[in-house]
Amino acid sequence: MLGNITSSWALCARLSQLQDEGCAEDRHSSLAKAWCTVRMRETVGYARELLGGNGILLEHNVGRFVADAEAIYSYEGTREMNTLIVGRSHHRAELRRLAHFLTRLTPLPARQATSRVHH
Ligand SMILES: Cc1cc2nc3c(=O)[nH]c(=O)nc-3n(C[C@H](O)[C@H](O)[C@H](O)COP(=O)(O)OP(=O)(O)OC[C@H]3O[C@@H](n4cnc5c(N)ncnc54)[C@H](O)[C@@H]3O)c2cc1C
Repeated sequence: MLGNITSSWALCARLSQLQDEGCAEDRHSSLAKAWCTVRMRETVGYARELLGGNGILLEHNVGRFVADAEAIYSYEGTREMNTLIVGRSHHRAELRRLAHFLTRLTPLPARQATSRVHH
């Protein structure tokens, strides 16, 4: 929970710095939204789990935070939408470089002979 909160805080602080410098772009906001809302959902889930069955009762308040997290996850744009924005903003050359890097990490399966004639 502390790791989720700290990394979300750090991302928002960096976004604020970029905003102050006049360098903030949509993709930066989308990355922060995607990261922070996913981590928030996970964190309130842990809090619910910590209280066991009591975690879903209104008098313990955690259920309220779970409902808040679900609402914010949708109205700030879901992870799917924000990751699409981040992904599409990247230059094709960057994606090609990444693809090249990944294919070097993952050995491809041996190629099957396609022109073999069976008798
Ligand atoms: C509490 C609350 C307050 C709100 N307040 C406001 C407000 O003040 N003003 C306002 O304008 N709106 C408001 N909204 C609406 C909010 O902006 C929308 O709920 C939000 O944009 C999601 O749209 P949707 O509900 O139509 O879901 P959809 O867009 O139908 O999404 C449903 C699911 O499909 C996925 N999905 C959708 N499109 C794609 C795609 N192209 N590729 C991959 N996955 C996709 C989404 O990730 C999601 O998981 C509010 C919503 C809530 C919950």
